Amino acid sequence: MSDLIAAVATARAASAIGILRLSGPGACEAVGRVFTPASGKPLSAYPDRRLVYGSLKDSQGRIIDWCMATVSHGPHSYTGEDTAELQCHGGAALLAAGLESLFAAGARQAGPGEFTKRAFLNGRMDLSQAEAVIDLIEADTAELAANAAGQLGGAIRARAEAIHDQLIDILAHFHAVLDYPDEDIDPFQLEDYLHTLRSAQAQLQRLHDSFRRGRIARSGLATVLLGQPNVGKSSLLNALAGYDRAIVTAVPGTTRDTVEERVRVGGTLLRLIDTAGLRQTADEVEALGVARTESAAQEAELALCILDLSRPRSEEDERAMQLARKAPHCLIIGNKCDLPRRQVPPAGAICLCAKTGEGVQDLQQAITALVGEVDAPWDGAVLTNARQADAVARAIDALHRAEEALGEGLTPDAVLTDVEAAIDALGQLTGRSLREEVVSRIFSRFCVGK
Ligand code: GDP
Repeated sequence: MSDLIAAVATARAASAIGILRLSGPGACEAVGRVFTPASGKPLSAYPDRRLVYGSLKDSQGRIIDWCMATVSHGPHSYTGEDTAELQCHGGAALLAAGLESLFAAGARQAGPGEFTKRAFLNGRMDLSQAEAVIDLIEADTAELAANAAGQLGGAIRARAEAIHDQLIDILAHFHAVLDYPDEDIDPFQLEDYLHTLRSAQAQLQRLHDSFRRGRIARSGLATVLLGQPNVGKSSLLNALAGYDRAIVTAVPGTTRDTVEERVRVGGTLLRLIDTAGLRQTADEVEALGVARTESAAQEAELALCILDLSRPRSEEDERAMQLARKAPHCLIIGNKCDLPRRQVPPAGAICLCAKTGEGVQDLQQAITALVGEVDAPWDGAVLTNARQADAVARAIDALHRAEEALGEGLTPDAVLTDVEAAIDALGQLTGRSLREEVVSRIFSRFCVGK
């Protein structure tokens, strides 16, 4: 049995409107105790979802705002329970007093994500939709917001449920044949099953493939800047970022730590990591930085290796290039092309001048050509969440095993076990088969009032 919760649903900053939200048994009565319609009629006389103008009282009965109230009785509400909202003026002190007043009327403070958690537990949305709520709130680009809106509308849920239903059909048929061998049930249609398993795998694989795109859109493609001290890494970072993010000095070894910057190149978001140089050093702080460079290089998807063309090629340059070539994608950059040349750039190197920005556009084009994303729509079919990607991967694996078992003519039990595992993994995507503690952890990412 759930209780009555209340929270301020808007950001705590002076703004035009601030919203107080209530959900649970007695929500409509509680709001009726703190809010009086200007018409003189009681709030309960108004129909659901009607905005009503009136006064809000604090816990001492003093009027603290003239605002709007609305109620929605369950189950046709966001949480599936009785809910009410007060749309007040957006002052922090006023909202705090309004919230106190709701507490005095019987509510308690809602925990993080508790409204959306109730919506999920009451079947108003599945877990992929609930997670889309926080994605929509946190989306910092129009693409991510559009994708989250698609998922809130059920883009992932629809895909997962269609596959779930097909797999349940297979399970049901298998069980019917196994459990009632004397009944006149259609025999196994192996070809049909194989087709279903393969098409489910292909659909889920497309979903899983989208995760790379989603991850890059969210946090950027891990891109490491490599090169010995003073070749111009910080200058290039600044040239790409468009302002002075890293400290540029003429003294080698000043970039002691790694500096990160998110930069949009073409349609791709890069998470640029400027590293301490690769110089062999006795300086302990710098030695730490060098170790970090090596691990950043190993984890990067794109390495940009910078050479100073105004100096002869050194062993350190060679080491930097070697390290860079270990990344899945790599570009060699010949910097300081404004100065007299003291080395021949390697074949395919992009020559530029980080200081003035000359040639930086060529680098941007090369990056787009190398790691740029296809211009597919952001309609909700892009996975941006590692938990969801993991569930999809497990479903694919289980379907693959089921297909193999079927192909090898293994006992139906083996096929059944794998199909059940796939159904379970899909259930984790939609939240059908998740344990309470996992659900609680997911909603703890939310802020209070959502
Ligand atoms: P980092 O140690 O690799 O990060 O190198 P910095 O970006 O701090 O640059 C080292 C020095 O080289 C600074 O004095 C920069 O102004 C200079 N520098 C960087 N790029 C260029 C360039 O393209 N041309 C010239 N002439 N100097 C540059």
